[in-house]
Amino acid sequence: MINHVRILGIPVHAFTYKTLLSTITHWLEDGEFHHICTVNPEFAMIAQQQGDFFDLLQRVDACIADGVGLLLAARILGQSLPERVTGTDTVQLLAEQAAAHGWRVYFLGAAEGIAQQASQILQARYPDLQVAGCYAGSPSGEEAPAIINHINASRADILLVAYGAPQQDLWIDRYKGNLNVKLAMGVGGAFDFIAGVVPRAPRWMQRIGLEWLFRLYKQPWRWRRMLRLPLFVLAVSRYRGKAIHQGE
Ligand code: UDP
Repeated sequence: MINHVRILGIPVHAFTYKTLLSTITHWLEDGEFHHICTVNPEFAMIAQQQGDFFDLLQRVDACIADGVGLLLAARILGQSLPERVTGTDTVQLLAEQAAAHGWRVYFLGAAEGIAQQASQILQARYPDLQVAGCYAGSPSGEEAPAIINHINASRADILLVAYGAPQQDLWIDRYKGNLNVKLAMGVGGAFDFIAGVVPRAPRWMQRIGLEWLFRLYKQPWRWRRMLRLPLFVLAVSRYRGKAIHQGE
């Protein structure tokens, strides 16, 4: 299994896109259920206050470092993560891989029609992609039985869930025993980005670690949520300080 760096108690795995995709290929072949979480600083801070989410992040098969803040946190802790692995780029690479292997993909969540738009864009790019189904729905428990029936009837291998954190991952964890998929992944705003309803930061901004700034500029209403970013860096620095102190 791949190494991890423990950041505020969360095991963040040292995947690159390449190692993640080859691991996913093994998982699809072993036929067991696997769950991937795309961890960012916001996730990590929510997990500090929400015990069930924190516990879930210990159990899942992979916590990928979807946020430059996690790479920075690893560095503050004197360790390193090889690269940022975003949910949005993983979904696109996964679609390509799914098309090549014949894995069927189900797109759940986001606003009405967005999952379908995203799936159509990916299918145009990878014509062999088999879209098992698309449905907006909601993470509410009442809707779950119908959604689960629909997913299982679609014979999906991979389930992508865009209900935002932590709902999407709690939903997957709660119903994993009822789902016949082999891989499930919470994908946050990935469908919005792929469908183009939310613009993604230019590559150069992503490269220098400023995607969060672009997001704040495009979606200023997120400022309150994004305050968790500096709080995260502060929490990691304090954690590091304590660890050094205890080691003295
Ligand atoms: N979303 C949803 N139902 C909900 C809550 C959120 O479909 O009850 C969708 C929302 O439309 C968006 C996605 O969840 O497409 C993720 O939202 P956000 O951008 O907040 O996620 P992040 O990328 O920040 O985790």
